[in-house]
Amino acid sequence: MRTLTQDLPPDAPGRQHQLTAQAFGAPDARPKVYLQGGLHADEMPGPLILHHLRALLIQAEQAGKLLGQVVLVPLANPIGFAQWVQNKPQGRQDLNSMRNFNRDYPDLAALCGDDLDGRLGPDPVQNVAITRAAFAAALGGMATPDEGTALRRALMLWSHDADHVLDLHCDHHAVVHLYTSPAHPNEARLLAQAIGARLVLLAAVSGGNAFDEAHSAPFHHLSKRFGPQTPLPAATFAATLEYRGQFDVSDDQAAADAAGLMVYLAAVGVISGPAEPLHDNPPHYPLRGAAEVTAPQGGIVTWACAPGDRVAEGQVICHVTDPAQGTRMAVAAPIAGLLFRQELWRSCLRGQSLAHISGPNPVRDGNLLSD
Ligand SMILES: [Zn+2]
Repeated sequence: MRTLTQDLPPDAPGRQHQLTAQAFGAPDARPKVYLQGGLHADEMPGPLILHHLRALLIQAEQAGKLLGQVVLVPLANPIGFAQWVQNKPQGRQDLNSMRNFNRDYPDLAALCGDDLDGRLGPDPVQNVAITRAAFAAALGGMATPDEGTALRRALMLWSHDADHVLDLHCDHHAVVHLYTSPAHPNEARLLAQAIGARLVLLAAVSGGNAFDEAHSAPFHHLSKRFGPQTPLPAATFAATLEYRGQFDVSDDQAAADAAGLMVYLAAVGVISGPAEPLHDNPPHYPLRGAAEVTAPQGGIVTWACAPGDRVAEGQVICHVTDPAQGTRMAVAAPIAGLLFRQELWRSCLRGQSLAHISGPNPVRDGNLLSD
């Protein structure tokens, strides 16, 4: 295991943040898998899972089972981790700009497109190598006017050439689910079955350029731009993994989740070991098929169902009670499907999001990710 560190240029005198990664295997070994956790720095299931995964990878390395290269960044956002306001962690947005730490990653297709013009040929393998070299050059030359941009660039300098990129998050209250592009259906199924996901949400481009999409969307855009004469395969599989809810943090669960990731790592050939996923294949639904449920009035939310429940269209899923006026309103499921997440708080304002239900048919458009 090698430890890598990267200092972020401080925005405030005397305040230095540092990123730390652990790398396993030779730096040029293939395949390369990159995993990070805690990009939303108030979501701790992922960092704890990667802590347990590190121990398993150390054992694998000592046993000579490392075939490729694995890079772990267990705590990907030291800026957000340090943000506490009145005894509560506030790690989702940069408190200065309110910019979501998982949006606005460098758009590699835009940064490299003109440079790649005329340089790709008929060999797809060579095209991937040329494209990844262009990604590295673009990131190397990128300006970092603030710490948040420096963080994005530093993470992508470690991850941009990986064959597989996993970004570990969690939701408020949720079952395990994952987001990925439809470009790799077999790997999406493999990953879902390895980690025990109950749902796979698919979108080629969700909007906002989240970390996972910053790795997969460039191949999608560049392949479209240059056309079939210069084939450019979707060389990077990238996914955002949602490991339940913010309070689902335990060593037993994290150890089991790390074991699930080891199955995935074996299945993609970066380590040798048992590679047979243990879980069933869940539904793979379009992200556009995830319907948002909002509060009809402000008040107290009481749930009639839990994450993981299948609900019928029109079924009452919760009530919102205004205790001041004594009014209670039932909230019905707008579609049939899997209720896979609920909001954290038991109070709500009128119009606020309460839950999402995922179904097979598109029900919305535009920017598909929350703020
Ligand atoms: Zn998150």
